[in-house]
Amino acid sequence: MNVDVCIIGAGPIGICCGIEAKKGNLSYLIIDKGCLVNSLYNYPKNMTFFSTSDKLEIGDVPFISHNTKPTKSEALEYYRRVVSSWKLKVNLYEEVFEITKKNNFTIKTSKGTYQAKKIIIATGFYDLPYNLNVPGEELGKVKHYYDEPHPYFGMKIAVVGAANSAVDVALETYRKGAKEVTMVVREPSLSETVKYWVKPDIENRIEEGNIKSYFNSSITKIKETEIHINTPEGKLVIENDFVLAMTGYQPSFSFLEKIGIEMGNDKHKTPSHNPKTMETNIDGVYLAGVICGGLKTNKWFIENSRDHGKLIISHILN
Ligand code: FAD
Repeated sequence: MNVDVCIIGAGPIGICCGIEAKKGNLSYLIIDKGCLVNSLYNYPKNMTFFSTSDKLEIGDVPFISHNTKPTKSEALEYYRRVVSSWKLKVNLYEEVFEITKKNNFTIKTSKGTYQAKKIIIATGFYDLPYNLNVPGEELGKVKHYYDEPHPYFGMKIAVVGAANSAVDVALETYRKGAKEVTMVVREPSLSETVKYWVKPDIENRIEEGNIKSYFNSSITKIKETEIHINTPEGKLVIENDFVLAMTGYQPSFSFLEKIGIEMGNDKHKTPSHNPKTMETNIDGVYLAGVICGGLKTNKWFIENSRDHGKLIISHILN
């Protein structure tokens, strides 16, 4: 198959790019290794977006939710509706392995080979969790993705991390009957980015002792029924059934490097791109969405990156 533009990733921003390509009368194909909006699908079941629904709208399709901030299932339904109403060409459950350039680009996937004049990479950052790198991490009791609280009812759990995901998981499992919830935080305090309407809740639960917390601390070993923690007061061993490592995720730099995209020398390893056109150091290869921030995964959201598609397609057309 030959197209003008091949878009890798069917997240909200890959979808935006497809819409812009269609508006510009370009032939295009969106390819995703998972389901539609795969990252969102893997977010916690009971999550609520911090953005109001109008800020998540794309392609001029209205997003009406029950409350001002939509739930995950409302967002999934919304993006399905966007793709159906724009009749976008999306290949799902097809992983892109390799992109090479001669005159055009050749895209090799788990299901076939395509040719495209331009490439847009909108692969996000949700695939590669930061590991704890401690003995025992390979045990099934260590989870890097959290879905819902039910499996943790009656269990002793440790939540690792200081940011929104860790705080949400600690509060939800505590409220849904986990026997004991302990936060293990490497930093001296919770992250400043914790949502202002959630912060008093977690601080009060910690202060009253219903959620235990160890700051300036880290897990050093994980065993079937216990974990070892280094704290400023010394080493501790506590009973434990599950470790929920909410330690963040990072983009696949190896995928970008294989294509030839250069990373910056800054601490976020920002992938090279011109912010006015989103074109990378390779002519005809563009970045869109959260991938643009490199390791600074809280720089770009749906809210502030949904115009990337417009920038890219107008550069291609001009
Ligand atoms: P993604 O949505 O991550 O999409 C990338 C896609 O690329 C995925 O579907 C993936 O399967 C696919 N992919 C990756 N590699 C390959 C490959 N090799 N081949 C084929 N496909 C591939 N943002 C907001 O604006 N407001 C919010 O309220 C908000 N709440 C959030 C809550 C949580 C818990 C989290 C984790 C994030 C939240 N965000 C929010 C951030 C938002 O979800 C991301 O900014 C958004 O998903 C980015 O879209 P994207 O299209 O750039 O990347």
